[in-house]
Amino acid sequence: MAPTQPYAIAVDLGGTNLRVAAFNAGFERLETRAQATQVSGGAAAAVEKLCQCVEEMTARRGPPLGVGIAFPGQVDGESGRIRIAANLPGWAGFELRSTLSARLPYHIRLEHDGTAAAIGEFWRGAGAGSDSMAMITLGTGVGSAMIVNRRVWRGQDGGAPELGHVAVDYKGPACGCGGRGCLETYVSAPGIAALARRHCGEAVVTARRLSDLAQAGHRGALEVWDEMATILAAGLAGWINLLDLPLYVIGGGVSRSWPVFESKLRRELEQRSFRYRRGRTRVVRSQLEEAGLTGAAALILSPALEDFPGPSALTSA
Ligand SMILES: [Zn+2]
Repeated sequence: MAPTQPYAIAVDLGGTNLRVAAFNAGFERLETRAQATQVSGGAAAAVEKLCQCVEEMTARRGPPLGVGIAFPGQVDGESGRIRIAANLPGWAGFELRSTLSARLPYHIRLEHDGTAAAIGEFWRGAGAGSDSMAMITLGTGVGSAMIVNRRVWRGQDGGAPELGHVAVDYKGPACGCGGRGCLETYVSAPGIAALARRHCGEAVVTARRLSDLAQAGHRGALEVWDEMATILAAGLAGWINLLDLPLYVIGGGVSRSWPVFESKLRRELEQRSFRYRRGRTRVVRSQLEEAGLTGAAALILSPALEDFPGPSALTSA
């Protein structure tokens, strides 16, 4: 086999798609493979597919510098066992790290996908040059992650922070977490669709369709986005007042609609957060198209970010 350039394998194991990519040390993507995740087949079938993709790549390219994996749930740092995976039914309790290590003889790092996205933006996107930032990912749910002075804040149980489960209305709709009126119930993609139903009475409309309608000047759709921006600002203003970080990055699929909600979001933040009004807080849209995948590569290619004391890092040799 001809020698190839040093590279890392990045894996984004999503609820619907498995993506495996090779990145060189300069973060250029050399190739990407995408496959539907067999959620119904359970963890073992999906991990088998993941291992096949990695083995096929290493057979052609030689051993990688390591394999970084963004996973949509919480992994126990010490055992590598899945703790919680809300979007991957049947995965809780699965021994992810030992299953992977038995098959793939490489340096493997596992990371929660929301945190991986933040790590991607921190090194290669909107956070480049910053020491501290928070990221909010608006998609099927609301993910969040926080990096403070180049260390990842995970709280004592490893799952923090959870901006999506901060209440913006104590009498609001019931949330799957047990709370009411959580930010996630309004500003996730399904939350925005529910706002639209309450506003316009339309039977079924997706966040993406609402974005198209708003960009075409549809008045009802613009009202929905204004309300979404107001609610997001209410949650984010609390975070900005509480944390006073220099940078907040908004990512995820819903952030594609940034042009339709940015100005209202800023007006509301100006109104609601005295810290934002000082003008030293940046709130920006994510820069990376696939922040989770870039973050998975960064787990291998960039200097590791330490955790705050508490839960251990999700690293195996
Ligand atoms: Zn909640």
